[in-house]
Amino acid sequence: MYYGFDVGGTKIEFGAFNEQLERVATERVPTPTGDYELLVETIASLVNKYDAEYGCEGTIGLGLPGMEDADDGTVLTVNVPAAKGKPLRKDLEAKIGRTVKIENDANCFALSEAWDEDLQDEPSVLGLILGTGFGGGFIYEGKVFSGRNHVAGEVGHTRLPLDAWFHLGDNAPLLGCGCDKKGCLDSYLSGRGFELLYAHYYGEEKKAVEIIKAHADGEAKAVEHVERFMELLAICFANLFTATDPHVVALGGGLSNFELIYEEMPKRIPKYLLSVAKCPKIIKAKHGDSGGVRGAAFLNIK
Ligand SMILES: [Zn+2]
Repeated sequence: MYYGFDVGGTKIEFGAFNEQLERVATERVPTPTGDYELLVETIASLVNKYDAEYGCEGTIGLGLPGMEDADDGTVLTVNVPAAKGKPLRKDLEAKIGRTVKIENDANCFALSEAWDEDLQDEPSVLGLILGTGFGGGFIYEGKVFSGRNHVAGEVGHTRLPLDAWFHLGDNAPLLGCGCDKKGCLDSYLSGRGFELLYAHYYGEEKKAVEIIKAHADGEAKAVEHVERFMELLAICFANLFTATDPHVVALGGGLSNFELIYEEMPKRIPKYLLSVAKCPKIIKAKHGDSGGVRGAAFLNIK
């Protein structure tokens, strides 16, 4: 049995998956706020409960919005204060007596997609999230590639390519980011970025869904905005594809529901790639909100 935990700021979602990778149990509990001992206890007691139910010792994977420090294993996160700066993996392993794996939740999202039955034979999958933020994860032969510092796939904190800057023109906004840098892709390609760019060019605040609706209705500003955004997305995606050369790209997050992306990217991306490269297959993620917990569970697939 594979156990996965998606540890978020407000809730912990648990999932148990059988050998066929089918979900057989789901449970949600509130994330203890600021109480580390209770956090460890909460996770351990779910493990014990489902071990007893299934008469086995399930493997344990955790996804969270953050990562482990590469040197001392303490958790780097702002969204789960109880775990911040704590050696969560070590403490859980000591309490439960079993190996625990911890990964960034965007990497878990990508891993979940890579283990979808349609993608299992693909050598590499790049998962990209166009949500409140822009992030991602790179899966190579069924495993997360997280790098020396566990920051591989943090594509939201790479900066705009030069051709994107030229594309945005003389009035291009230099947007700040939560990481303290300016020009991070997170500020431009996320759902929030989609709205920020609209507000910048047209001086009006609109929600992404309203802009997409206005685009469908043929409103001039929305049409111009979407045209600008699609090209920007193509430029930035092409850079990421040149760096990782994925076989498949799975898009998640709210903006990934904008169907036009799947029509436009294959047309727009090739001119920004090396001439020998083909545009990879770009698909909408299939596992949506359950991706975090699935991917966390699948960290232990051999
Ligand atoms: Zn940043």
